Amino acid sequence: MDTQLLVNGAHKLGVNINDTMAAQFSAYTELLLKWNETMNLTTITDPDDIVIKHYLDSLTCLKAVKFRKGDIVADVGTGAGFPGVPLAIVRPDVKVVLIDATRKRLSFLEEVINTISNLAEEGNAPNIEILQARAEDAGRMPEHREHYNIVVARAVAEMRILVEYCLPLVKLGGVFVAMKGPQVEGELALARPGIGTLGGGRPEIVELTLPGTDIQRSLIVIKKIKPTPEQFPRHGSKIAQKPL
Ligand code: SAM
Repeated sequence: MDTQLLVNGAHKLGVNINDTMAAQFSAYTELLLKWNETMNLTTITDPDDIVIKHYLDSLTCLKAVKFRKGDIVADVGTGAGFPGVPLAIVRPDVKVVLIDATRKRLSFLEEVINTISNLAEEGNAPNIEILQARAEDAGRMPEHREHYNIVVARAVAEMRILVEYCLPLVKLGGVFVAMKGPQVEGELALARPGIGTLGGGRPEIVELTLPGTDIQRSLIVIKKIKPTPEQFPRHGSKIAQKPL
């Protein structure tokens, strides 16, 4: 992995990568490539592309929202750990819960967490937990419902479905960040009624390009301004068949 590419790109996003973090990202890259030989983790396998399209892209969340010490962050549909693992590496002062419906990538994520924790300085290991569950099921569990200061999601579902997965998990006053590509207006327009119903405020769109590229990204930031009514989230099949 090209450490300088990561350090310089992160710097442009306002993130400082120290030597420990660089070693953690490097170990993550090695594990990702090794496990990807036998498991479908990512189609991006060029190390520079991994830095830009996975790591720097994940870190863009920090441009859109202020993460505070002690915040609890959920990464819904984390897959191979994006954006949750990069965020946990650069912000060991927040707790990140990686949520995914599928069990099959859990051993990979466990090995990543063990490896990057072993590389951390004493008392400064990334604070990461894994929850194997569908987000909408977690949203009905008392210990997860309206529990998270920040919920993030990348490449999980279209916006009007995604809001029902994610907004019930957000604490009142917290935020949901949906990581999207360019031109999100159409998708967002369809989701607006559901956002209001689920307790979200007016969405803000933060547009940026990934450092050193012309790849455009949009982060949709929605603040939770009212509690989610008890009847939401509905079961997964209802959400997909009849989005709000
Ligand atoms: N966020 C990762 C990324 O950007 O590389 C993974 C994206 S992958 C295309 C979508 C992931 O979302 C899959 O791992 C899938 O299991 C998960 N997923 C889809 N619907 C979900 C749900 N309702 N609850 C939890 N996970 C879900």
